[in-house]
Amino acid sequence: MRALANILGSLVLTGALCSALPAAETGAGAPADADRGPLSALPYTPSLDPSAMDRTVKPCQDFYQYSCGGWRTRNPIPPDQSSWSVYGKLYEDNQRFLWGILSTLAPGSAGRTANQQKIGDYFATCMDQQAIAHLGATPLMPMLARIDALHTKSELPALLADLQLNAAGSGFLFGFGSNQDYSDSNQVIAFASAGGLGLPDRDYYTDRDAHARTLRAQYLDHMARSLALLGESPRSATRDALTVMRIETQLARASLTLVEQRDPHNLFHKLDRGQLRQLTPAFGWDEYLREMGLAKIAVINVTDPRFYRQLARVLDAISLADLKTYLRWHLLNNSAPYLSPAFEQENFAFFGRTLRGAQVQSPRWKRCVRQVDSLLGEALGQEFVARTFGPELKTATLKMTLQIEAAMHKDIEELNWMSSATKQQALAKLAVIANKIGYPDHWRDYSELEIKPDDFFGNLTRATAFESRRALAKIGRPLDRTEWAMTPPTVDAYFDPQMNDINFPAGVLQPPLYDARLDDAPNYGNTGGTIGHELTHAFDDEGRQYDAAGNLRNWWSDEDAKKFKERTECIVDQYAQYVVVDDIHINSRLTLGEDVADLGGLILAHMAWQVQTAGQTLTERDGLTPEQRFFVGYAQWACENVRDEDLRLHAKTDPHSPGRYRVNGLVVNMPEFQQAFSCKVGEPMVKEKRCRVW
Ligand SMILES: [Zn+2]
Repeated sequence: MRALANILGSLVLTGALCSALPAAETGAGAPADADRGPLSALPYTPSLDPSAMDRTVKPCQDFYQYSCGGWRTRNPIPPDQSSWSVYGKLYEDNQRFLWGILSTLAPGSAGRTANQQKIGDYFATCMDQQAIAHLGATPLMPMLARIDALHTKSELPALLADLQLNAAGSGFLFGFGSNQDYSDSNQVIAFASAGGLGLPDRDYYTDRDAHARTLRAQYLDHMARSLALLGESPRSATRDALTVMRIETQLARASLTLVEQRDPHNLFHKLDRGQLRQLTPAFGWDEYLREMGLAKIAVINVTDPRFYRQLARVLDAISLADLKTYLRWHLLNNSAPYLSPAFEQENFAFFGRTLRGAQVQSPRWKRCVRQVDSLLGEALGQEFVARTFGPELKTATLKMTLQIEAAMHKDIEELNWMSSATKQQALAKLAVIANKIGYPDHWRDYSELEIKPDDFFGNLTRATAFESRRALAKIGRPLDRTEWAMTPPTVDAYFDPQMNDINFPAGVLQPPLYDARLDDAPNYGNTGGTIGHELTHAFDDEGRQYDAAGNLRNWWSDEDAKKFKERTECIVDQYAQYVVVDDIHINSRLTLGEDVADLGGLILAHMAWQVQTAGQTLTERDGLTPEQRFFVGYAQWACENVRDEDLRLHAKTDPHSPGRYRVNGLVVNMPEFQQAFSCKVGEPMVKEKRCRVW
């Protein structure tokens, strides 16, 4: 992913129904925000903005500050955000534009299509704060009653399936869904993953530093206050919070770290039903799978068997009352952002303010737009694409993609450290990478999903269940290679190693990222760098383990693999030196894939730009040479300001390095950069021993 973290940095992850949904708020946001209102067109900002630079700083001293200093001064973090960035700002512009679209599709509007009715009515019910406030916790009552009616642990599987289908998320003991088989990418099989936690990662439960201890105490207080809102006495709420913490800690201890999860072999353990029963004797998989509509499936990939052995022990030892407490908490935690103000505010106070440093909640309209994008994203996306992504834009960005793929072909052929046998395999993989630009060829069919004009929580539950069922229905069916994992308005991009495709939603191909009004230099630096980044993911430490067919299969000679690792160790050592915040350094084994992709991506973009402009006479603009504009264009995608709380969270969980190092850590490795700015040996942006993988 290019920049998912930048976007998520502005959201509040609650482990809730959809992980990308923010926590909730009650107010209408700052007056300035409300004054700005919805947009009827996307605003324009150039992809290279000279006023965003800080020319008092020398480019060879600190290239990030040189390129982004002006932007950073002029763009303080808005109070509802935990970080603010070029990506984040474009994302908000997109949201405001989607708000404009949704406002014209309100209930009762004439001539709406079936999809327009769904997104218009969902948005309207979400915006009806009065009705939501009036209901309090009532929408949860039927599910709370079911939890309360649990008589024996043997009834857990059916109940759990129901909770996971209708409230989604991985907070109910474990995660369950579908994915391509690692050994046969044409097959979609069931995946059972680790889960069951309320905090963002297992390390939050196991770290022993003062900051982690304080956060755990704050999480306990938050759980107790939330449970008290459901009517529990303060004493019993405090006791229940401790119970939940004990169970979550046991599950966390047996979960893989994020670095361990970067190796797909650690996540691949196909088990048959008998092996599954053996792994967790205390859990009735037959009942569970029947309830999930999967009674007949024979094989499940258990990503994390050690976690499931622990889960079995926990389920064996736990009392029925404690099990109910745990489920009650996770139902509440999942649902709090969608309930009345008291619940939303408490949820925001912990997940937004304490964990990420946001000062106020996002305005309601923003949270409602995100929900529509998350739950009905391809219905909303059609509207976005029709207004923002014409055929010229698709043609131009596809051309750039093909040029960058040609650059990679040349790059692989010329590598001096790889044998020709491995090169042939790499080229074979490159040749069949599918390019997905803008939006899917086939739009998702929402006709089976009912959205009512007066039932917010019902709409949320039905849309969540629709998506759960849609994902499970893929098991055992032919793989749909046209499917996308991001919605069209998304300001991000991704490579999928099993699909072996690179994906660039329409939202990430807009100014100030791709800028049709500007010349090639900043566009190849910026969007070209993004395309090269995603392409390089196919050959980073994780992606290189998949072959052309998207299967986990080693196509490397031992000697070439060894040389690859030596080269990536250079990157690991380099980024480990960088400080994120306080005395916390980058966890460079976690960020390795992204750091490799950043470097390879810009090298490829630079090669493609040379081809594109060969024979042209390029001139200086804004006091910058074309070469300099290529690099400033690159750097300016990464301009950002981030709160300390959010930096700490990212240091633990984000596979991307902070923006400063995605620029400075990269250019020190490129002689083309040093030439462009005449940097001299001994200056900070010149590395004595450069790293290079691709
Ligand atoms: Zn990436």
